[in-house]
Order: sequence, then C-alpha cells, then structure tokens
Amino acid sequence: MKPSDLLTPTPAGLYCPPADIYIDPVRPVARALITHGHSDHARAGHGAVLATRDTLAIMALRYGEAFTGSQQAASARETIRIGAVDFRFVPAGHVLGSAQIVVEHKGLRIVVSGDYKRERDPTCAPFEPVPCDVFITEATFGLPVFRHPPAHAEAAKLLDSVRLFPDRTHIVGAYSLGKAQRLMALIREAGYERPLYIHGAVEKITEFYQAQGIPLGEIRKVEPSGRKAEGRKAFAGEIVICPPSAIQDLWSRRFPDPVTAFASGWMRVRARARQKGVELPLIISDHADWDDLQATIREVQANEIWITHGEAEALAHWCGTVGLKGMPLHLVGYGDEGEAEPEAKPAEASA
Ligand SMILES: [Zn+2]
Ligand SMILES: [Zn+2]
Repeated sequence: MKPSDLLTPTPAGLYCPPADIYIDPVRPVARALITHGHSDHARAGHGAVLATRDTLAIMALRYGEAFTGSQQAASARETIRIGAVDFRFVPAGHVLGSAQIVVEHKGLRIVVSGDYKRERDPTCAPFEPVPCDVFITEATFGLPVFRHPPAHAEAAKLLDSVRLFPDRTHIVGAYSLGKAQRLMALIREAGYERPLYIHGAVEKITEFYQAQGIPLGEIRKVEPSGRKAEGRKAFAGEIVICPPSAIQDLWSRRFPDPVTAFASGWMRVRARARQKGVELPLIISDHADWDDLQATIREVQANEIWITHGEAEALAHWCGTVGLKGMPLHLVGYGDEGEAEPEAKPAEASA
C-alpha cells in the first residue's frame, strides 16, 4: 500500500479512503477526526467527530453543544479501529487536549501531528514522538530566523516591566485558547501572586482549564462597558490578558497609560511588533521552532515528511539536504496561530 492510498490531501482536508474519514477537515464532512480545538482545525457542522475529551469540550464551549451530529471521545494512546484502519490519539503538546493522530493500516504508519511544540508547557501533556513511515507536520515557524527563547524568560520580561512601571497597566495580547492560559501559568510559576485580569473572550476557556485542575491563581474578569466606578486607577500596575485584537481597539482605552505586550512566536519579527503597536514583544509560541521541527523529524525516523502549511518549501528543502523526502501539501484553510483565533465572532469581540 502506498502512503497516498492511506491518506490523501483533498480540498476538504486530509482524507483516509479505507476508513472514509477526514482529519481536521476545513469543510463539513460526515466523519471527522480532530487534532485540537483551534478554529482552523476544529470546525462546527460535521456529522460525527472523534477527538480527545478535552477537544470535544472545547469545541462545545466555542460552538455550542450542537457543534456536531454525534461525538466520540478518544482516550490518549487507545487504539480505535474504523473500517480496517487503526487510529490512536497521542499528545502533541500544543494546547490542552491537543493530539497527534497515528494512522496505521497493513503495516504502514502515518502520523498526523496537527500543531505541536516541544517546549515544556505546564498546561498540557507533552508531545510524544511516535516512530513512523510518514510524518505529517506543520511548518508555521519553519525558517532559521525562528528560534524561540525559553518561555519562562519571556514571562520574566513581562514581570520586570510591571515592576519598572508600577503605575501603568500591562495589556498582554494572547490567543484565547492555549496561549492565554499558558501565559497565566508561566506568570504564576515566576511567583507573581496578584490577581490576573482577563477580557471576556478569554473567560470560558480559562475556566475550563481551571476545572481540569490546572492552577492559574486568582483570575478576575474586566467588566464590559468600562464602568466608570471601577476607575482607571483600579488597573494601575495590574496585568490584563486579552485576545490580540483587543490590544488596539476601544476596549483597551479604559486602562491608564498602558504598556501593550503580545505573546506570540511572531514577535521574533520586530516589524510585526511595530506594526501592531506592541511595545513589549514576548516571544512565546505554541508551535515548534526551526530547531524543534528538525529535531522532531529526526526523532520520528520517517523517510517521508509531508508538510501541511506554513513555511512548507523551506522545510521540504531542508529535508532534501538530510536525505529525506519532503513534500509540501499546500493544504488550504489552516492559518498561523493568528488565524486560529476566532476573533471575528462579534459576541467575543464585544465582551
Ligand atoms: Zn493550533
Ligand atoms: Zn493550526
């Protein structure tokens, strides 16, 4: 059996003919397997969804309980047979609930890694490398310029700035699923004990993380509509975490003389930070950087590397230089972490 008989790229996403399922489809399909809850991978409207319990719960929080016709939860590493194909969900270290999907049939093993990272993250299970014949990877940060510094050092930068400017509010843009909660956990690990303030769009997912036993300390929601009584002074010296889109909108004007920060792998690019009006760029990413993409590819020992999105050509080229077959798939509909944010939803944006 050829790998392309087991998994094949289609406009709706990666399709597995012998099981008649799609992985992370970008269009509504009858049966979908979903790697994680970011909106470019997890969409509403499928007939049936198989995913980890946390991913199913996150989808229900974002889209409502009726996000799919039926659902089935996959335990970590449990083998689930569909048709004659075996599937396993193995932790990807990206966000809570995130999984790689191992697809196995007639002795051929393909790993669909979804989005992943290798750096320690106190809010989710670490990535587990699975040796395979074909490894399917993203390449969001697949260029040598992207080398993420240790996340705890970036969190320390934020706290240094808070100490340096005790009268200013630090507004930190962070994606509402995963990044925001990881940042909270990093801030707590650094010993910061004051309440952390959040934008309404971050609330539901944060409560879900807490309910799963992830300690994030005291979290307070910034009340909407800028109640004057709360006073601008109330937020002086505090840390406020919000979706990136809120940094520049009206919402942020309620805070006195704010320092704007943004936690993202893209903050490695100075021009991006400037363009977004970010004063304090924090390079914290939930994606593998250039070194970790390479290390992971070597570790899983696959001969063929299929690259879904991001800097696919650059990573495919590198594969060639080390004797591996690298193949860009040019899948459409998957974004970088910026596009993974459902910030277009007016309900969230206005909160
Ligand atoms: Zn993602
Ligand atoms: Zn993604």
